[in-house]
Amino acid sequence: MRFDLHIHTHVHSGDSELDPMDLVARAREMGLDGIVITEHEYQWTEKELEDLRGKAPGLVILAGVEISAWGGDVLCYGVTDPFRVKRGMDWGELTREVHKQGGVAVAAHPWRWGQDFEKVLRISRATIDGIEMTSNNMDTSTKRNALAYRARHPHLAGLGNSDAHRRETVGCFQTLFESNIRTTADLVEAIRLGRANPVLPAGQE
Ligand SMILES: [Zn+2]
Repeated sequence: MRFDLHIHTHVHSGDSELDPMDLVARAREMGLDGIVITEHEYQWTEKELEDLRGKAPGLVILAGVEISAWGGDVLCYGVTDPFRVKRGMDWGELTREVHKQGGVAVAAHPWRWGQDFEKVLRISRATIDGIEMTSNNMDTSTKRNALAYRARHPHLAGLGNSDAHRRETVGCFQTLFESNIRTTADLVEAIRLGRANPVLPAGQE
């Protein structure tokens, strides 16, 4: 199944102009089977998700949260108490809390803006479950670093995401799951097992 797991809407991300109805329409156009909405420091509630699912039958719609942590951004999936994963936490603290809650943590656009990714991991003694390997917010050099890092750490999930803040970019990079992803639990399990790989949209491979 094809997913885009890093998306911001204007509903809870001040820097996004993406309307949820445009998001679901574009997701279909791009051949996605599912989307995961990851606002900055906010995780959509089940109620909010249910409302949107009602308007987009057949599309899997889940929520995670993107935390602006000390050292860089981290995508958290499967957290049950999002208010305990906070802006500014270091990666060690953050990933421990995410794991305690049964979730998984994925490094968003690693190496962006000069981030010393491996140093951040080392200093904070963080354990991550995956890294983004392609993103609209990654350039050739950061993508190359991510590819090399995952080759050395093949147990990690490799994600391809848009980090969309507007309609045009939704689904521009995608993640392929071999397993069936219907729920957050399915998603967490696939990422924890490292069974996720970045792909280009169908027809652009
Ligand atoms: Zn983002």
